[in-house]
Amino acid sequence: MTTTTAAQAAYVVAALLFILSLAGLSQHRTSRSGIVWGIAGMVIALAATIALASQSITGTGLVLIAVATALGAGIGLWRARVVEMTGMPELIAVMHSFVGLAAALVGWNGYLDVEARGGAQHEITGSLLGIHHAEVFIGVFIGAVTFTGSVVAYLKLSARVKSGPLMLPGKNALNLGALAAFVVLTVAFVARPHMGLLIAVTVVALALGAHLVASIGGGDMPVVVSMLNSYSGWAAAASGFLLDNNLLIVTGALVGSSGAYLSYIMCKAMNRSFISVIAGGFGAPAVTSDDTDHGEHREISAEDTAELLRDASSVVITPGYGMAVAQAQYPVAELARKLRERGVEVRFGIHPVAGRLPGHMNVLLAEANVPYDIVLEMDEINDDFAATSVVLVIGANDTVNPAAAENPTSPIAGMPVLHVWEAAHVVVFKRSMATGYAGVQNPLFFRDNSQMLFGDAKQRVEDILRSLDATDAAAPAMAGANR
Ligand code: NDP
Repeated sequence: MTTTTAAQAAYVVAALLFILSLAGLSQHRTSRSGIVWGIAGMVIALAATIALASQSITGTGLVLIAVATALGAGIGLWRARVVEMTGMPELIAVMHSFVGLAAALVGWNGYLDVEARGGAQHEITGSLLGIHHAEVFIGVFIGAVTFTGSVVAYLKLSARVKSGPLMLPGKNALNLGALAAFVVLTVAFVARPHMGLLIAVTVVALALGAHLVASIGGGDMPVVVSMLNSYSGWAAAASGFLLDNNLLIVTGALVGSSGAYLSYIMCKAMNRSFISVIAGGFGAPAVTSDDTDHGEHREISAEDTAELLRDASSVVITPGYGMAVAQAQYPVAELARKLRERGVEVRFGIHPVAGRLPGHMNVLLAEANVPYDIVLEMDEINDDFAATSVVLVIGANDTVNPAAAENPTSPIAGMPVLHVWEAAHVVVFKRSMATGYAGVQNPLFFRDNSQMLFGDAKQRVEDILRSLDATDAAAPAMAGANR
């Protein structure tokens, strides 16, 4: 068997492992094995690619590949070890930006290697050369859009720029104009390739990527993350065509299509139009500054919250991003366990976009050993709030905002939310009256049945646990004294 045949066979095995990996990652219980399949697939893919490359590259070239692989693997291992759970979305956005940048560079390399030299030395002629022109142009376009889109997503997710939508005048016309320019430039490039055209499309695509993501409001960022994941897949597939690498084409198509499907599911869950979000908020309601006077909020202490919980028959805990920031999942799990021991019905209500990653809250609760059967999805719990004694909103904000359901002019109007306000009592754990990620004021905080428990969520939950323990300890003593 020649090296080429062996490498192609290894590519088929790697592609199958990637498919198994995706299947494994679709469920909690199998996600670990999904990761192992993915790692195995990537090791085989890298080994086969290096073996293929070693046929035409020797000496310094191979040393450079070894250095680049070791450097990349080292940086990847280091980042993955030190990243906080709350920093994962930013890390993913950065990785998408690398895929986009790589695809754009591969496109440019394709041009400099073939078009700029007439194509003859690669024996690419006739209609094949025309296809190569199109591959270069499309690869550079998708790659550059993914690159700047992901950089802006990184800046928004890491709160380095405001999460609200950029509302440039005529923003839809700008996006459509950029797409029209891309089509015209592609036709011109395929007819007569020229570096000026490639520079023009690179600039248009870089601007379009940044503008598309900047125009999307904070509430729609989950869809943007999965959409950029999809774009990065298509960018990789475009590179695969240019590099004549079948595995890159298959893997890119897998990532592209699964990312597109995930974006579609998330749009449905959030009652958003898929087209509107991928077109940079096309048709989304204009954001109006909210100066509504919602009245006064009321505060509650940890001791009084413990008192409320002691008298409750049913409690629902709705965690959000703040629980992840505070790392409050362990005391929260302990609180749930203590209340259940006392005969209180305790359940968790999980919004599909709570936190900053799909499944973020489920991962944290699983880490703290909260039983799966008391962790319910939004649709499973939403009808039960009216019969609930106390809801503890732990660091959630947008996902429990009644404005989404009641105010058609709100930027998050129509997004399904947890109907926590229907419960008898709501206690909101947060540090201030600041808005959530979407930058929208939350009328829940001012409702008659709501009280704010200010401070770091972990510390406040621990205060409640101490208070419950103190009364437990005092109860037998009191009973003894009364006897
Ligand atoms: P939000 O981001 O709306 O609100 C989180 C709240 O947590 C803040 O209001 C903050 O208030 C509070 N908080 C922060 N740190 C602490 C702390 N240490 N202790 C207590 N409270 C704290 O959270 P949600 O989970 O409700 O909503 C998620 C938002 O993120 C949605 O808008 C969603 O669209 C978006 N998003 C989701 C993604 C996903 O895939 N899940 C990806 C990208 C965006 P304060 O500062 O006053 O403490």
